[in-house]
Amino acid sequence: MPERIKDWGLAPDLGQCRLCGSSAGQRYFWAEVYAGSGQALRRCGYCAGVYLAPGFTDAGLTRFYQGPYRRLFPAEVPWRDKARFFAWRGDRDIARQRLGLIEPALAAGARLFELGSGFGAFLGQAGRSRPDLALVASEPDSAHRGELLDGAPVRFVDNLPAVQPASVDAVVAFHVLEHLPDPLGFFQQAGEALREGGQLWVEVPDLMAAWNTRLFVHPAHLSYFCADALRRLAEASGLQVISCGQHPLAALEGTLWLHARRPERLAETPVRAAAQATVVAVDHWIERVGWGLRDRLKNFGKRRVLGLLGAGLVGELQRWRQYRARLRQERTP
Ligand SMILES: [Zn+2]
Repeated sequence: MPERIKDWGLAPDLGQCRLCGSSAGQRYFWAEVYAGSGQALRRCGYCAGVYLAPGFTDAGLTRFYQGPYRRLFPAEVPWRDKARFFAWRGDRDIARQRLGLIEPALAAGARLFELGSGFGAFLGQAGRSRPDLALVASEPDSAHRGELLDGAPVRFVDNLPAVQPASVDAVVAFHVLEHLPDPLGFFQQAGEALREGGQLWVEVPDLMAAWNTRLFVHPAHLSYFCADALRRLAEASGLQVISCGQHPLAALEGTLWLHARRPERLAETPVRAAAQATVVAVDHWIERVGWGLRDRLKNFGKRRVLGLLGAGLVGELQRWRQYRARLRQERTP
C-alpha cells in the first residue's frame, strides 16, 4: 500500500464558505475518501458554492503538491518516455482547440497571461500560430513547465499580482481555479491585471456533470462550481460576464467555460446570494452520489494496485486507457 500521509497541513476550520466567506447554512455532506485527508465536502447556503473544508495552510498546500499529489494522481506525472506521456494525454490537441476559441478575440501584439500553465501546451500553441502575442505566465512546477513550450518565448512570473496593473489584454486559466484556496481572489487579481476591455477565459470541472462516485472529490480540487455560482463569483470581482456554461469543445464535456470582460470601472461587490432553487439543485445532485460496497472495494483495490505496481506504471496504464477511449470516440462518426 502507498504510505499513509500523517500530517496534511490543514488550516483551522472557521466554518466559512471558501468562495464567498459566508457562514450561513453551511451543509456537511461527507468526508473526503479519495485520499482520506480529513477534509469534508460542504455546500454554502448563501452562494451555493461547494468546497472542501478545512483548507490547507500555505505550507501544507506547497507540501501537498510536492509529495502526495504525485502519488494520488499518477496519470498527471511523466514516467520514463515523455513523448509517449504527452502523446497519450493529448495536451497539444486540446491546446490547439482552446486557442481556436480565444485567438479571434486577440488583437495583433496582445499581451496574454496564463495562470497555472502546466506543461505549457497552450503557450506553445499560441507561440506557434500567433508569434505576435506577448506571452506571460505563472506555473509553480518549474521543473516541468517548459516541456511543451516548443520554444515559445514566455516570461514566467510568480503570480498574477506580479504583473503591472491594467497591462494585460487577456487572462486565461484552464483547470486552475478549483485548485486555488481563494477563487474570488483570483477573479479580483485578474480584474486588476486586465486593461479596460481586456478579456478573461476560465475553465473548471462542472459540479453538475455526470459524476457518480465520491472519488470525484479529492484534496487537489478545493472548490466545485455550478455555472451559476461561478458566474456570480466572477461578477463580485467587478468583471462583466459575457458567457458562462457548458464548454463549447466536445472533447471537454463536463467542463464549464466562462468568458468575461473588464469594464472601464472595476467595482467589487459582495457575492450575490444564490436562488433557493440553485441550492436545492446542487443538494440533489450531491445527494444522489452513494458510497456502497462496490465503491469501497474499488477504492481499496486502487490503493492496493498503486502499492504493488507503483505510481509510474499505474499512471502509464491510466493514460493508455484514456488514449484508447479517445481514439474510439474519434472513430465513432
Ligand atoms: Zn458561499
